[in-house]
Amino acid sequence: SLSGKTAIVTGSNSGIGLGVAREMARAGAEVILNSFTNRDEDHALAAEISKEFGVPARYIQADMSKGAECRALIETAGGCDILVNNAGIQHVAPIDEFPVDKWDAIIAINMNSAFHTTAAALPYMRKRGWGRVINIASAHGLTASPFKAAYVAAKHGVVGMTKTVALETAEEPITCNAICPGYVLTPLVEAQIPDTMEKYNMGREEVIKKVMLERQPSREFATVEQLGGTVCFLASDAAAQITGTTISVDGGWTAL
Ligand code: NAD
Repeated sequence: SLSGKTAIVTGSNSGIGLGVAREMARAGAEVILNSFTNRDEDHALAAEISKEFGVPARYIQADMSKGAECRALIETAGGCDILVNNAGIQHVAPIDEFPVDKWDAIIAINMNSAFHTTAAALPYMRKRGWGRVINIASAHGLTASPFKAAYVAAKHGVVGMTKTVALETAEEPITCNAICPGYVLTPLVEAQIPDTMEKYNMGREEVIKKVMLERQPSREFATVEQLGGTVCFLASDAAAQITGTTISVDGGWTAL
């Protein structure tokens, strides 16, 4: 059980981050949701989690593209036992046409934010004598695809940072690992299905298996609940000696 632990999940008002926050709340953790917006819906998500699972839950606005706001997220939460660095964006373009502002934003949100939040969270973990840093990287933290230079660079960077943080905390009751998802069925991915069906003139199942999951040997999406379960495992006592490594949740993508 994660009861008594405070978990902060960056970029968690949708998709994997929200799924991870829900599974940690189900396991009894206090959860802090985050994104850069400050809408009523964002705070309502936290209220729903609190009601459904009977745990404290809050939403804290902070823009993960800005280092000072990353650090302020941890300070505003006032504690952090489990840090899940999940916020991320994507842009697809050949490297010689890659917009500089998109490059900078991807490196800032997908990689630099984990530097700032981890730096701010470690003192809290050390004070409580326990901690887990869990970075949501990607299959693209281990392999590449064309036209995703910034994303692949940032995710490889996160995997490297994960190993360094693990070494710096190796003699403490703190671990740092990265989860490398393949294709996950999030609302964002779900929304692409109708267009892709039309483009290829295929049915839903065919477009999923032949087009979208072309690189995922299982031909199944991973789910946000499975990602949440993997995070809960890494936060458990069973995973206390797992540090500085990656766990792929990719249906065999990186085995190819
Ligand atoms: P998503 O778009 O549903 O979620 C991204 C989250 O990040 C959202 O909550 C968004 O509000 C937040 N975010 C974006 N910019 C932010 C900023 N500047 N500050 C704070 N929050 C910000 O996408 P997702 O698929 O759930 O992605 C979550 C993570 O999982 C990302 O790091 C992504 O790279 C990674 N991932 C996703 C897949 C997939 O197939 N969906 C596969 C591998 C890795």
